[in-house]
Amino acid sequence: MNLILMGLPGAGKGTQAEKIVEKYQIPHISTGDMFRLAIKEGTELGQKAKSYMDEGALVPDEVTIGIVKDRLSKEDCQKGFLLDGFPRTLAQAEALDELLTDMNQTIDYVIHVDVPQEDLVERLTGRRICPKCGATYHVIFNPPAKEGICDKDGETLIQREDDQPGTVKNRLKVNLEQTQPMLDYYANKGDLATINGSQEIDQVFNEIDEKLRNIS
Ligand SMILES: [Zn+2]
Repeated sequence: MNLILMGLPGAGKGTQAEKIVEKYQIPHISTGDMFRLAIKEGTELGQKAKSYMDEGALVPDEVTIGIVKDRLSKEDCQKGFLLDGFPRTLAQAEALDELLTDMNQTIDYVIHVDVPQEDLVERLTGRRICPKCGATYHVIFNPPAKEGICDKDGETLIQREDDQPGTVKNRLKVNLEQTQPMLDYYANKGDLATINGSQEIDQVFNEIDEKLRNIS
């Protein structure tokens, strides 16, 4: 079972990833973890990646692809894997296809947790944090007992710069511009499974699970 998980920020991808790997016992491979592992193991590619990251530069695709290859070749990926955060661009998606062909494998499903942008804006701009103790709240999903006030210490809650509507909308726009060509690419190949991410968490997972049961 070889899977890719996609979705814009706030779509609830992380929660679904946990549920998928728990039920199907495949490794959850996030880009960050993969890089950290390669660096920790001190592989040649890991050292290369680190040198770019230390300079604050983007890691070139050929290095990233090499790290993905090393990771997917490990023992725990024999039954499959769930890629999360990779591929990030169409070029990486194409490179991944070549890599998998070399490994005699294919992607079974690209699971796209789809949530309308307006809903994502609502989810992402609703976050409030306490500047004193760091507690986080959400005006709709996890509100404090008294509006705008921290339950723990009575401090006035604030909205971070990152969570303000202008910043959020811009982040989503940039993400969508990068994601859409990949979604089109996988749709053309017939690999795309678009899941309605606006439902309750368990319903979203049921929809994913129905697709996956067809594979195993
Ligand atoms: Zn507080």
